[in-house]
Amino acid sequence: MPTAADEQTRVLVVDDERFIREVLADFLGMEGYLVRTAEDGAAASRELDRARYHVIITDLKMPNMGGLDLLREIKSKSPDAVTLVMTGFGTVETAIDAMKCGAFDYVLKPFKVEQVLALVRQGLQARREGARQNAERVKSDAKAELGARFERMMDTLWLAYHPIVHIGGGVYGFEALMRSEEPSFPDPSSVLSAAEELGLLHRLGRQIRARAVEGFVHAPADAILFVNLHPADLTDPELYSQSAPLAAMAERVVLEVTERASLDKMSDVRERVAKLRALGYRVAIDDLGAGYAGLASFTKLEPEIVKLDMSLVRDVHLNVTQEKIIVAMMSLARELKARVVAEGVETEEERAKLASLGCDLLQGFLFARPERIVRP
Ligand code: C2E
Ligand code: CA
Ligand code: CA
Repeated sequence: MPTAADEQTRVLVVDDERFIREVLADFLGMEGYLVRTAEDGAAASRELDRARYHVIITDLKMPNMGGLDLLREIKSKSPDAVTLVMTGFGTVETAIDAMKCGAFDYVLKPFKVEQVLALVRQGLQARREGARQNAERVKSDAKAELGARFERMMDTLWLAYHPIVHIGGGVYGFEALMRSEEPSFPDPSSVLSAAEELGLLHRLGRQIRARAVEGFVHAPADAILFVNLHPADLTDPELYSQSAPLAAMAERVVLEVTERASLDKMSDVRERVAKLRALGYRVAIDDLGAGYAGLASFTKLEPEIVKLDMSLVRDVHLNVTQEKIIVAMMSLARELKARVVAEGVETEEERAKLASLGCDLLQGFLFARPERIVRP
């Protein structure tokens, strides 16, 4: 029996002998195929204009339009169809011509209907296999193309630096934000998802950390460098290497771990973070309040710094709930001896409100845009 996927399989039987049309239509119909018949090539051609067929079984010798001419019509009208030709003894040569014209196979008359059914199944199977291989080829081409774009991105990767300022003025530190000259990766998230798909997150993370250090050489000696980590970076041995470029300045580095991605899958986050601290790094929870992992990340990371997500900051002067959440987070942070940075400050009203709530480290377009150069 045809499988569920075959249920709608449509078969066109073309023969000038009525008996053959009927026998095949009955038998294939009982096997679950949807069968239509045509008495010659011309009728079949009209039928192909009217409906789509998966399988076409055609006689070769017919009045009006013969099988070979019909094959040419099929090629243009229904190129994906599986075509079988039926031919009498002594015309095998023509059957071979038919296969050259794209027929899948042929049966010699007289035949057993089971033979035809077996060929129909084989033909459909081959068609599925062909489609699958085609899809795979398309997928692997796409991956190769993504890989090439990714390499161009890596070659032109640079870090923009966005200041984190004291409420009273003066710069506390700079957050490094990934940028690239490759136009097909317009923002960091597109880079990260490509790296994920290509299995290159560690390589990307290493490049970011190395370049972040290079660009920071002109920063004031007391400025702190904030570097974003993807959760996958926590499993990269290079991050824990004492000879890594970033390690040389670990005492001035805060590693930001986002609260957006769950750390649940990583069983040994505490141990990893402890290792980073032993190397001199500090740790920040990024995007707190974006509402993903909840407060679980506090106990896992025991951060020195907490960065409030900009969704909490946006219009905080107009929204009492946001204000209350910020107050609660700040009090929690105080208990845990963590400093708070409010990100995404865009307006004077937001700044003033945050100041009144006791938020003393701020980041946002109100103060500066991320820039290629670290300004003292
Ligand atoms: P994030 O770590 O929360 O970084 C802050 C994002 O907000 C940056 O966008 C920054 O340009 C933007 N921003 C800063 N101030 C304001 C503001 O006042 N208003 C508005 N509307 N936006 C502001 P960017 O650079 O596009 O980065 C987006 C996200 O991509 C980052 O969010 C971070 O999750 C990720 N990302 C960026 N660079 C890196 C990196 O080097 N490594 C990793 N793993 N992730 C990165
Ligand atoms: Ca960040
Ligand atoms: Ca953030």
